[in-house]
Amino acid sequence: MRVVVTGGAGYIGAHVVRLLASRGDDVVIVDDLVTGVADRVAGAPIVELDLVSDRAADALSVALRGADAVIHFAARKQVAESVARPAWYYRQNVGSLAVVLEAMESAGVRRLVFSSSAAVYGATEGSRIRETEPTVPVNPYGDTKLVGERMVAASVAAWGLTAVSLRYFNVAGAGWDELGDSAVLNLVPMVFERIDRGEPPIIFGDDYDTPDGTCIRDYIHVLDLAEAHVATLDAMAQGAPRHDVFNVGTGRGYSVREMVEAIREHAGSTVPAEVRPRRAGDPAVVVADPSAIRDTVGWVARRGLDDIVTSAWSAHRFLSR
Ligand code: UDP
Repeated sequence: MRVVVTGGAGYIGAHVVRLLASRGDDVVIVDDLVTGVADRVAGAPIVELDLVSDRAADALSVALRGADAVIHFAARKQVAESVARPAWYYRQNVGSLAVVLEAMESAGVRRLVFSSSAAVYGATEGSRIRETEPTVPVNPYGDTKLVGERMVAASVAAWGLTAVSLRYFNVAGAGWDELGDSAVLNLVPMVFERIDRGEPPIIFGDDYDTPDGTCIRDYIHVLDLAEAHVATLDAMAQGAPRHDVFNVGTGRGYSVREMVEAIREHAGSTVPAEVRPRRAGDPAVVVADPSAIRDTVGWVARRGLDDIVTSAWSAHRFLSR
């Protein structure tokens, strides 16, 4: 299979590229290399392209020649930045998807896997989230992903695209040290970073309505997530156009306190965590019901908290060496 992977030099994309290449698929990466790192995917051809530049449509059309499918990861993903620069976020995330969909239509490429996010749900309450839950994003980032899903759905209806939107929960860990997450804004890399500097890890709020008062999230190992993409691609029917939307999570939640303690223990840190006020916009509990992708695609997460912490730590050591 020939697969064009936008954002293939990014954290998640590079894991998928490696899995596809290792089983003999023909992979072409399209990446602007702003947050992506070319070293991550040494060996795979990279078309260096900003998908919202003037030349994007033409250049992408060339890259799409002969392709069977597209996996569209390329996007900006920082919630706080999206709050500060909303218009730019819509231009980046929505604009780039528009270019991808137009180019796919004109090139006759009819299979798409789109990177969506649990951020489309916004503030949820209590039990595990199903895909039928109302989608009310609480920040521009989440809204760009929801708009993206709608653009995908409309293209499915209009010209015969078959697509799957995967709503990622909290992605962490590394399948290979050199593919670790180099951004430090999420909980797991942030705690490692602070432990490294001898500073206390920060817990944003311990007065939530949860058993230990800290927020609960569904942490999924990036290699499990990458396998979900490959399984999804393989399961996409050649038949009638359709758009499926799947949660990609484990179905199991851990509190921030549990995560911080697991990481501190693994790193041998003696500095206790420091509790600070709540971070704006954090829902108390976000945990997936992942049964739809299990029943339709046959994918389930296989790795647990230990694998996430161990691999994330190992990658962190490697990347900060
Ligand atoms: N968090 C924290 N300390 C940190 C970073 C994050 O307590 O240094 C909390 C954050 O408030 C949230 C959870 O960890 O409750 C996961 O945050 P992250 O930014 O990793 O992902 P999000 O769930 O916001 O997408």
